[in-house]
Amino acid sequence: MKILAIGAHPDDLEINCYGTLAKFAARGDKVGVCVVSNGNLGHEEIAPDDLARIRLEEAKNAADIIGAEFFFAGADDLHVDPQNEKVILELARIIRGFAPDLVITHSDRDYHSDHNETYRSVFRASFAASVGHFDPDCPDPPAPSAPIYMMDNLTGVGFIPTEYVDITDYIDIKLRALACHKSQTQWMLDHDGIDFLDMAKTCSKARGYQCGVKYAEGFRPDVNYARMSASRLLP
Ligand SMILES: [Zn+2]
Repeated sequence: MKILAIGAHPDDLEINCYGTLAKFAARGDKVGVCVVSNGNLGHEEIAPDDLARIRLEEAKNAADIIGAEFFFAGADDLHVDPQNEKVILELARIIRGFAPDLVITHSDRDYHSDHNETYRSVFRASFAASVGHFDPDCPDPPAPSAPIYMMDNLTGVGFIPTEYVDITDYIDIKLRALACHKSQTQWMLDHDGIDFLDMAKTCSKARGYQCGVKYAEGFRPDVNYARMSASRLLP
């Protein structure tokens, strides 16, 4: 299978679905990770242009840990918008080039507007990627609309999973990937007293209790016409 995970900011995928992505990769599937925004506003002291460079590098390093291909769709923080034609065109091109069998992204009810707009952007771009005349200059053929799975919200607020993935064997690699995001983990720890690594581990443990394994990640399929599958898609 080919799985493309699309998160709003560098670190969102690591927190909510990297155990599952590592599990896909370990069984030989092709995994791509795409961040829509460069994370340039995620620090009060590092200037936005410098931070964008640092955070994309951190996200690329995390992708390398699970052997995933890395993509960036070109938005700035707080400017993710399904009507941003430049970003939608780039996202649709990434999707056409990768031709995923499954897309994983945010739900549309998370705490950050960029997360919610990423869901809407992915919904639009993945349909646009199936329409050849949307981007006649794209070198890749149109990609059929893939099923979309929504990953957990931050700390699970308001999100009831309908499918779980046992990530017990992949919790360490998930945390190692998240630890690549030093600009975030250290900053949040020093200035807000929030330990992102502990948060991700604790939330994975709570999802694990819900389904009878040690660590898990939760998902919901985006139920829409032609986005369904007769098979279980998650590992
Ligand atoms: Zn985020």
